Amino acid sequence: MRMKAAVMREVGKPLTIEQVELASPGPNEVLVKIEASGVCHSDMNSLMDTSTPTPSILGHEGAGIVVGIGSNVRHVKAGDKVALSWVPFCGVCPFCEQGQVHLCEIAFGPMFDGTLLDGTSRLSQAGQKLYHYSLLSTFAEFAVVAERSCVKLPDEMPLIQASLLGCGVATGYGAAVNAAKVTPGSSVAIFGIGGVGINAIQGARIAGASQIIACDVKPKNLELARAYGATHTINVAEQNAVQALKDLTGGYGVQFAIDASGNTNAGSSAWQGTRKGGTTVVVGAYDPKKELSLPAGGFHRVGKTLKGSFYGDVHPLRDIATLAQLYLDGKLMLDELILEKIQLEDINKAFDSFHDCNCVNVGRSVIVF
Ligand SMILES: [Zn+2]
Ligand SMILES: [Zn+2]
Repeated sequence: MRMKAAVMREVGKPLTIEQVELASPGPNEVLVKIEASGVCHSDMNSLMDTSTPTPSILGHEGAGIVVGIGSNVRHVKAGDKVALSWVPFCGVCPFCEQGQVHLCEIAFGPMFDGTLLDGTSRLSQAGQKLYHYSLLSTFAEFAVVAERSCVKLPDEMPLIQASLLGCGVATGYGAAVNAAKVTPGSSVAIFGIGGVGINAIQGARIAGASQIIACDVKPKNLELARAYGATHTINVAEQNAVQALKDLTGGYGVQFAIDASGNTNAGSSAWQGTRKGGTTVVVGAYDPKKELSLPAGGFHRVGKTLKGSFYGDVHPLRDIATLAQLYLDGKLMLDELILEKIQLEDINKAFDSFHDCNCVNVGRSVIVF
């Protein structure tokens, strides 16, 4: 079928709106009519990354309606509303077997190669292959995706809001609920109030934490953090974060700290601001050239846990469906995360807004089809 898509032709260049061909879904694949797609910072990073295969169709936060299924697909049917996850999983590898489906390896090769799970592409133009992105490619009117990228949604779930569930919302919520396992009445610090951090605040709030401390350098983001459930804020450009966390917790430090900042100094502060027996979760991606420095003295004595979390340790089918229900129950804020609704043709303007360093990158531009 022919469809309209935003095509990445060259690294760093604006996307171009073109007509492209989408082949039918394979036996384990689903054809989805995309209704909405968030524009994430990771799309921007990939547009600037020379390792992104081109030409390709970016976009990895989407929701839509199933319009076709492959012969083996059992989990969804035509007419179902779905949110999309960019980490499909196999269900049988050593990681899936242990319930760690977010660590399943089947998605990673295809993710970097720009294909679907079978190593091939469904996208083309005049006989030339176009690459997929994150096994989804949601900057297009339709997408062919793996069955296990599809999360069935309740009929009453609006798809514009649902388009946000599969990436930053799931990752942040999961970092608090799955990785840190925040408990009711606990104290939680969140470093880095961006697309992931703001949702870690929501996760901590939903988990019943009584003290939620937002740590960032932007006063505007700290103010927003309060609207999402932070009870305290620390501007780490002005205050010593470790000392401030201890001051707020009777000298002990927080029970749970989540670093969503991607900054190793924040990671070090998060660890040092975590109390004995507590858990520090690193969910932001650090610069691979950096090292995370932690004081070695007394390491064994404090009994703390340091945990890396990929994709918020989510089980997409379970957690994205839970998030949709939390939204419908009025417990998860999504409307506020939608900064603007745009047409596909305006996608480059959404990318331009990422360059404006004064912008508050907590929310999203959402493409509505
Ligand atoms: Zn994303
Ligand atoms: Zn697996």
